[in-house]
Amino acid sequence: MSSMNILLDRNRAFAENFDGADLPILPKMRSVIVACGDSRVDPAHILGLELGDAVVIRNNGGRVTPAVIDEIAALAFIVKQMDGDEPGPFELILLQHTQCGAERFADPGVQSALKEQLGVDVSQVAITNHEASLHGDIERLRMAPEIPGYIVVSAFIYDMKSGGIREVVAPIALAD
Ligand SMILES: [Zn+2]
Repeated sequence: MSSMNILLDRNRAFAENFDGADLPILPKMRSVIVACGDSRVDPAHILGLELGDAVVIRNNGGRVTPAVIDEIAALAFIVKQMDGDEPGPFELILLQHTQCGAERFADPGVQSALKEQLGVDVSQVAITNHEASLHGDIERLRMAPEIPGYIVVSAFIYDMKSGGIREVVAPIALAD
């Protein structure tokens, strides 16, 4: 049985009890979570997200890349339009995890092989130290003129061994 058939079966079961047709487009928690694409760290599971709770952006390492900055800027723009004169809160949660594949991208040999063989530059997503890269990602957000300063950012590391998350940066407005 292919993976797609398994997934189709699961979706049939999901659709049978579906009651999310009227969920509003703005997430209930008014939050965007940036997380790694690793199959073991799905925020829906580890943070118990329900449908409609939060926007989740996932990539290699859960890093703030130029593409992620564009996505957040576009989302913030739409949210502001919907809020009108009274802009509500907008939270950004950065979530990295131990034993991340992006740590392998820090290997200079892997980095140069990817660049030479595939033309892929992973230098911006490589992780050598989770705390440092989370602080670096917040700095990337602060330096991006298209990201509004009222967005509140926080940063966490998920521990693959315990299943718990640890706060690295407490919630703070980007402008502060
Ligand atoms: Zn990862």
